Parts: sequence; structure tokens; C-alpha cells
Amino acid sequence: MAKDFVDEVSDFLNFGFKKSVLRGIKELGFIQPSPIQKEAIPAILDGLDVIAQAQTGTGKTAAFGLPLINSLKHNGSIEALIITPTRELAMQVSDEIFQLGKYNKVRTVCFVGGQSVFKQLELLDKKPQIVIATPGRLLDYLRNHKLKSFSPRVVVLDESDEMLDMGFLDDIEEIFQYLYKDHQTLLFSATMPIPIKHLAQKILNNPKFIKITPENTTNEDISQRYYIINDAEREEAIVRLIDSEMPSKAIIFTRMKKEADILAKRLIERGYKACAMHGDMEQRERHRSIKAFKDSKSNILVATDIAARGLDISGVSHVFNFHIPLNPESYVHRIGRTGRAGKKGVAITLATPLEFKELRRIKENTKATIELYEIPNIQDTISKKDTQWIEKILKYPISDEALRLYEQVRSSADMTQLVCKLLSMLLEEVKVLGPNKIGLRKKDLQKFQRELRQEEKATYKKQKPDHPKKNDYSKKQNQKERKVGQAKKTHKVSNSTKTKRNSKRK
Ligand code: AMP
Repeated sequence: MAKDFVDEVSDFLNFGFKKSVLRGIKELGFIQPSPIQKEAIPAILDGLDVIAQAQTGTGKTAAFGLPLINSLKHNGSIEALIITPTRELAMQVSDEIFQLGKYNKVRTVCFVGGQSVFKQLELLDKKPQIVIATPGRLLDYLRNHKLKSFSPRVVVLDESDEMLDMGFLDDIEEIFQYLYKDHQTLLFSATMPIPIKHLAQKILNNPKFIKITPENTTNEDISQRYYIINDAEREEAIVRLIDSEMPSKAIIFTRMKKEADILAKRLIERGYKACAMHGDMEQRERHRSIKAFKDSKSNILVATDIAARGLDISGVSHVFNFHIPLNPESYVHRIGRTGRAGKKGVAITLATPLEFKELRRIKENTKATIELYEIPNIQDTISKKDTQWIEKILKYPISDEALRLYEQVRSSADMTQLVCKLLSMLLEEVKVLGPNKIGLRKKDLQKFQRELRQEEKATYKKQKPDHPKKNDYSKKQNQKERKVGQAKKTHKVSNSTKTKRNSKRK
């Protein structure tokens, strides 16, 4: 091996990987091991069971993939099993392992739902060393004795908390009953809820615990903003922000599958290149959406947390939270889709005045700097767009076809007129529509914040004479939150009724 090749991956040399593995690392362009790789790889190579708390984007796939590839015996059996919550993640893991193991004759096979059982099982004839599977399909094969002498030496559970959220924990426990006891087990999870800790106690043997604190909360490459709006303004707010930000690639996170569908449809109707992705879609459709987004055929992906989790998509310039995420972990996870690999990113959260408390909790919990912004009005948006368009036009490469057309018109057309006509054509498609004012202005919000503080002080004073225990206070807070929640529902209903009425009037 040439010296310069080793130099390029010299930080990986300490692991003692085979040259063929180093070659795979070099080919993927990795220069330094990521923090999770630094901690997990030596433990995995030592044969220890590992629990690793790490998010997508930390390099966790290579953290378990590289030692796996390095230790393959190529004895004709399935040596490793990787269980993932979704088909997309299974495919992604398979791709990465295949690429890393390019010089190690690694063969992988995916056992996932939505594909022909016959074709999948036929692939076993090719003697793959690594199986990547989703719980349902794998369990189906195990129950029906489709996998002869199946005894992987290493079992990896990827995105375990996601499996919990998707209701797969019982399946996982059943799968483990079909496996021989003496395998090495590696459990990866972005968060560590109690059921996952319990599962770990059951299936892991004296594990090494590794925790990688999410960098994204302090990732200075992500500008984190929030906008206060009324519930009925969400769609207009998103559209206006897309118009003014002109994202090259954006993911809009919604809470519900139906919302993702509706919003994507509405954006397409309004001329944006959007697509939806959620768990109720057929695998083929989901695959089509991801491909369109990855290939930049559509630049807006409207997705639910679960569907988009674990997916590694590069070049995302903007992340939008259509609603406040359900918890701080989800916030961190979502915004971590942008500002990767040293690139700048923008994370935008829409919140109603009533949701603002939730946002404050997220801010406190993640210690993130999320700044209040106003949604630009039509004129500001047009000015911003003008500047961006001019920049875009000046940078745009000149094609041969354009030169050919230019030769045809240069003698017959006035150039000023021609440029103006072309600009009119271009701008025809990018009109800024919608109401002029969307969301709360900063001074309205400051008033709201003052009122909120006063309300909180009053609640605290009322409780003080009894010297309540901490729990009593938090109980009251909870009751109050519940009331706010109910008020929110009423607010939503009245807003939607208003919208219906307005649209009838139109
Ligand atoms: P993951 O957390 O496994 O989803 O990985 C996120 C992305 O980081 C993938 O595209 C990997 O190819 C990439 N990656 C993994 N390890 C490294 C590394 N050491 N240096 C640079 N990129 C990496």
C-alpha cells in the first residue's frame, strides 16, 4: 500500500484494522474517526457488549459497521444481524456497509417488509455474511423456520428507541429467543427511555455504556429561529418563509401523517416542488419521495418524525417545525438534519402563543439559542427575493442551448427588451402571495410574555401561604397546562371555523 494512502486515514490506524478495511474508509473520504467511533470501535473489537447513546449523523453506522467488517470470518454463514426499525434505514445501513466493505468481499442482504419473500430468501444462496432486517419480516422468517442454522456472532439493534415508539419491543424480545445466547450484542439508541434500559438489562451482558452528547444543540452552524403565529396561519407562514428563505433543500416536520400529506399537496398546488413521507405510505411511494428529495427533483420534503428518522440526507439547508416538536429530544433530532459537515443551516419553529411555553421548555432543556423573528411582509419578501434572484442569475452557468438561442435572436431583438421579457417570464412563477401580515409582531409578543410572567407570579403567590411541597406546585402547573391545552383546542376549533367561513365567503 502506498504511504500516502495510509497517511490519509492515519487516525484510523490505532484501531488495528485490516488494510482492506482502511481502503474502504479512505474511499468514503473519512479522515478522522467521529467521537462515537473513537469510543465504540475499540470496545466492539474487544468483543464487549455495548450500549451507545448516539443520534443519526454521528457516524454510528460505521461505528458498528467497521469492526463488524474487520472481524468477518467468511465461513459461509451469516455472521452478523442488524435490526433497524424502518425499511429505509435498513437499506441505508446496507448501502453504507456495502461501501465500507467494498474491499472485503462483504455481502449484505435486507429482510424487510413490502418485498417478495421468495426473492429475499433466494439471496441467501449468495452466502451473505450480514443480514439487515426490520423486526416484522425477520420474526416471520424465524417463526416459519426459513433461516437454517441462523446463529449470528454479532447482533446490532439500531435506533432502539424508534423500535420502542413503533411498538416493536415485544418482537425484539421474541427475536432474541430464537438466537443463540453467546453472541455479542450492540444496542444503539438516540435516547434512553426506561423500557430501552430494561431491554438492555435483559439482552446485554455486562455492557460498556457510551454516550455521545448531541453536538447539534450547540451547533453554531445552525441558526435557530422561532415565529409566533396564530394556529390558522401555519400554512401561510410556511409559504411566506419558503418564499423569503428560498431553501435549496428543506424538511418540514409535521406531527401527523395526514398533516404531512395535506401540506405537501397544498404546497404542490401552489407551485412548490414538494413531496410527502410518512409511515402510512407504501414503501414504493416512500422510496420515490426520498429519491426525489435526494436527487433534488423536489426540494421540500414534508415528513413525520418517525418516517424521516435515521435517514441520512446531505445538503439540507432548512428544517421547519410546522408544530412544536413533542419533546426536546425530537427538537434536537430534527434540527440536526441541517448545518452538517461545516455547512450553514437554518432551523425554523412555528409556535402559537399557547405553544410558546412548550418552546421555552425545549429552549431550557437543550440550552439552545432560539431567537424570535418576525415573518416578513410581502414587500420585504419581494426585496429579499430580488436580491437572491439577481445573485442566482449572475452565478447561473450558460448552457450551449442558451447560446444557440441567443445567436438566433441577437440580430432581431432589442437586448434590454429581451432581458426584461425573460425576467418577467421567470418572475411569473415566483409571485409572493398570501396576506401581508402573518404572525405576531415582536411588540405583541413582548406584551404576551409580560402577561405570562404576571400570571405565573400570581399562581405562585396563591400557593405560597401553605408552604407547598415542590410536587404540589408542579401538580398545579400541570393542571394549568391542561387548561391551556383545552383552551388551545377551543382556539383551534374557532380558528378552523373561521377559515371555513372565510373560504365560503370567497
Ligand atoms: P450515521 O450517523 O451512521 O447516519 O452517519 C452519518 C454520515 O456520516 C454518513 O453519511 C457517513 O458516511 C458519515 N460518516 C461516518 N463516519 C464518518 C467519519 N469518520 N468521517 C466523515 N464522515 C463520516
